[in-house]
Amino acid sequence: TSLHSSKLIQSACAYCGVGCGVLIETDGASITGVRGDPDHPANFGRLCTKGSTLHLVAAQTDARALYPELRSERGAARERVSWDSALDHAASRFAEIIHTHGPDAVGFYISGQLLTEDYYVFNKLAKGLIGTNNVDTNSRLCMSSAVTGYKTTLGADAPPACYDDIAATDCLFIAGSNTAYAHPIVYRRIEDARKANPGLKVIVVDPRRTDTAREADLHLPILPGTDVALFNAMLHVMLWENMADTDYIAAHTSGFDALRATVREYSPEAVAGLCGVPAADIITAARWFGKSPATLSLYCQGLNQSSHGTDKNAALINLHLATGQIGRPGAGPFSLTGQPNAMGGREVGGMANLLSAHRDLANPAHRAEVAALWGVDSVPATPGKTAVEIFEAVARGEIKALWIACTNPAQSLPNQTLVRAALAAAEFVVVQEVNAFTETAEYADLLLPATAWGEKEGTVTNSERRITHLQAAIAAPGETRPDWEIAADFAQRLGVLQGKPADRLFPYTNVEAVFNEHRESTRGRDLDITGLSYALLDQQGPQQWPFPEGAATGKARLYADGVYPTADGRAKFANPRYLPTAEVINTRYPLHFNTGRLRDQWHGMSRTGMVARLFSHVETPALSMHADDMARRSLKDGDLVRVKNPRGELLVPVEASEEMRVGQVFMPMHWGGRYMSGFGVNTITADQCDPVSRQPELKHAVVQVEKA
Ligand code: SF4
Repeated sequence: TSLHSSKLIQSACAYCGVGCGVLIETDGASITGVRGDPDHPANFGRLCTKGSTLHLVAAQTDARALYPELRSERGAARERVSWDSALDHAASRFAEIIHTHGPDAVGFYISGQLLTEDYYVFNKLAKGLIGTNNVDTNSRLCMSSAVTGYKTTLGADAPPACYDDIAATDCLFIAGSNTAYAHPIVYRRIEDARKANPGLKVIVVDPRRTDTAREADLHLPILPGTDVALFNAMLHVMLWENMADTDYIAAHTSGFDALRATVREYSPEAVAGLCGVPAADIITAARWFGKSPATLSLYCQGLNQSSHGTDKNAALINLHLATGQIGRPGAGPFSLTGQPNAMGGREVGGMANLLSAHRDLANPAHRAEVAALWGVDSVPATPGKTAVEIFEAVARGEIKALWIACTNPAQSLPNQTLVRAALAAAEFVVVQEVNAFTETAEYADLLLPATAWGEKEGTVTNSERRITHLQAAIAAPGETRPDWEIAADFAQRLGVLQGKPADRLFPYTNVEAVFNEHRESTRGRDLDITGLSYALLDQQGPQQWPFPEGAATGKARLYADGVYPTADGRAKFANPRYLPTAEVINTRYPLHFNTGRLRDQWHGMSRTGMVARLFSHVETPALSMHADDMARRSLKDGDLVRVKNPRGELLVPVEASEEMRVGQVFMPMHWGGRYMSGFGVNTITADQCDPVSRQPELKHAVVQVEKA
């Protein structure tokens, strides 16, 4: 209450998974400023360029969706309607399609930027009420290989380390992450750790010489997609030089013998050419990793956004298990989450193959538990369609009605030509959004206005499993409503049409009631939060899970006792072998195309693109290329080039960059069709997916580049 009277409202940043605490300054009517929350353990008052301009985005109200809008037919303009007619119409369209074609003829595509409570209600709506598992999220583009990497090795989707480990480590192994740009406040911690401990070794694995790589003690500029070969070669060195922790392997793991046999053929000399890294550097990396008292790995989309992302994650976790670098201060594998609440979405099981509280759809006992918790007869067993598959199914006419909330797939999904065709072909598209003018909103038959950051209450979980309770700072504008409330209201109306007891299934009168139901679903699970409440989070600040009833605190780090949440209590070594990228360079498409973040932009720029000062770092789209590749094509800085592959082409200026190796080009992921030709960068990105995680290979495609 003291915060409210001083007009400072506790919240967390709406951008990345670092999950920095933010104090919102408000005059009661609008958000007037933001400052870092000095008491929040994620950032202790610090904010990066994006977080410190959140209030400038909040002040941009011109683009807001403020009222429900419905169009009578394709091609017609949408017209303002009441919430009652909007949701009644949606319920009758969904009921009709489900009645005629079955529950799998509808789908939900939601977002890692929704709050946990929003996610929970959407998941229950799809799986509990409608009876389809076709609910997936843009987190599939971001963290699903981290999930499968953890689950196949450690047994649960739980990052075992915490931010404090950065200060406690002796060796930092950063793989596939430009932390300085993508997670700036984590990077501040790395800078602090280096100052405090000049002996700290930093290794960066990245095809580009990014700002993060430039600052490293050792940069391994691997060729795209060769991570598994590199990690297996490091393990080869560790075994050859007796760095393996044989006691740890014997006591706490299984499956090592098969892996040892596999890595025998991955000598540094054998993989150096494949990886494009000198054998001596692979040996140095292995020694620093294996011999340091504590080694911490930070990793992100370079491992995840890959057609072999699960293998890459598991191969890295193998190194930690083999050297016992886990469960101790400063040691462990630590995935950096891309979105602010990708973790929370996973916790409620808001994906096509997951169930509430880290339960598995494939497990009949888990399905029965969730059905009992929800008070429904059953939860469907057939896995739902994942992100890319949803749009493929829409394009084929299998999914006829699609509900999209808090995300902009008509910019952010790979292979945009297919995505746009799918949206145009769908029978009924609902878009639940803050912004009325996103690329996806153009396809909406029904546009539902949602409350934005600073206007809604709920919880998020950051990369280190820490839950923050966000407060609303100002009233919702126009007729906007919180996402969970829209989903619950729709569920009630659909339930009436289907003769189902939706009143009983969705009885929530406020967001806290949703949190409390989710909390109960975690009882006895690895992420048990039965000891948490909104009141406790407000009084004692953000907390890490697990936090079971009776606990005084959450757990900073997992597996300190060497016991893993697997059937036999042992971590399981994966046995991955190197496999090439989905697309392989050839004479027609001789260049590797890579994507990544800029320092000051966020995702598809629907928010950061509103803030002029965030363009001062990089103003316009450009293709980065090595000077030798440019000379070979008689290109000079600023020349327009065509970047082509079978999915389409981009017209964009080229610039020489010392970050690039010969044979590789790079473009930031943010630029959409409003900043450049076609549908933007995702016109040409690849939609081939990892077979386990179903995460698409957004980080690699093959292209040709020619002067326009
Ligand atoms: Fe926001 Fe991430 Fe920046 Fe923190 S590091 S202020 S969470 S964008």
